[in-house]
Amino acid sequence: MRILITGGAGFIGSHLCERLLSEGNEIICLDNFFTGRKANIVHLLDSKNFELVRHDVTEPVMFEVDQIYNLACPASPIHYQYNPVKTVKTSVMGMINMLGLAKRVKARILQASTSEVYGDPLIHPQTEDYFGNVNPIGLRSCYDEGKRVAETLMMDYHRQNSVDTRIVRIFNTYGERMMENDGRVVSNFIVQALRGEELTMYGDGSQTRSFCYVSDLVDGLIRLMNTEAENIHLPVNIGNPGEFTMNELAVEIGKAIGTEVKIKYLPLPQDDPKQRQPNIEKAKNLLSWSPKIPLAEGLERTVAYFRGIVRQ
Ligand code: NAD
Ligand code: UDP
Repeated sequence: MRILITGGAGFIGSHLCERLLSEGNEIICLDNFFTGRKANIVHLLDSKNFELVRHDVTEPVMFEVDQIYNLACPASPIHYQYNPVKTVKTSVMGMINMLGLAKRVKARILQASTSEVYGDPLIHPQTEDYFGNVNPIGLRSCYDEGKRVAETLMMDYHRQNSVDTRIVRIFNTYGERMMENDGRVVSNFIVQALRGEELTMYGDGSQTRSFCYVSDLVDGLIRLMNTEAENIHLPVNIGNPGEFTMNELAVEIGKAIGTEVKIKYLPLPQDDPKQRQPNIEKAKNLLSWSPKIPLAEGLERTVAYFRGIVRQ
């Protein structure tokens, strides 16, 4: 198949490019390099089945493709809040452009949505039928509401134009190729611990997240894209239900590195969700998918990667 991956030079996108290329597909990797890097996909450039295109999804584009994975969007709060208007444009105009393309060439399209559509959830763990608790005017809204509108567009293009759509709600994912300055908690803590710096804990560290290793996530994306089932167009959670407080995560990272970590407590950012854990029954039933890599093992691999790039 010929597959377009927007945001393909980013953290998750580069792993997806690698996996789909290794399975014999032709890959068009499209990226504006805001948070992505050529270094993430440079090892794929020699393949005759891999093409790299510098393009911004807020502008229309035309390719003949069979499938589209729409991952273009900065995912770390510091990056999506850097230019919030652009973040909204990327989710909304980018989604319209990619859905227009899918409609014209009759490609199946998968949208990388997020657990952030649940906001600061009042239901725990989160099931797909929960409508969420999102502040529409806060600092995280450019990302959360942008992704919610993107889901609306996916459903409306499906109902109105019969576009073949898939929506995945991705929960916190980590692994190799996160940027050193990505700003998300796993990479921040690992980089700080390797440098012997204090870990920047926002709030008292009692808030929870559930962390999925990137190979498990990529496997879930590919299964969802290629599954046919009734109501498969409705959102599906993909994540690892193992839930940790940020204090527990700090300890786990200390263990993976083999050091005792020191912690510096800083203010909690606005609207930071207090808890988050996916209910993955739907993915288990529809996709026969469940995560394989426990946090300790995923952290070990991620630490090995950062040891190679962080100046200690
Ligand atoms: P990332 O920031 O590493 O990757 C995003 C990629 O999109 C980058 O390569 C960036 O340059 C590109 N991009 C951004 N705006 C663009 C634009 N306007 N046009 C073209 N390219 C653009 O983030 P990631 O963690 O790899 O996330 C990938 C996708 O998965 C995102 O859509 C994100 O919202 C979603 N997601 C990720 C997580 C996670 O924990 N990593 C959780 C939920 C959802
Ligand atoms: N966090 C932290 N220190 C950091 C970065 C993040 O304590 O250096 C916290 C953040 O406040 C949140 C959790 O870790 O409660 C996860 O943050 P991240 O940005 O990784 O993901 P998100 O909040 O988008 O789920």
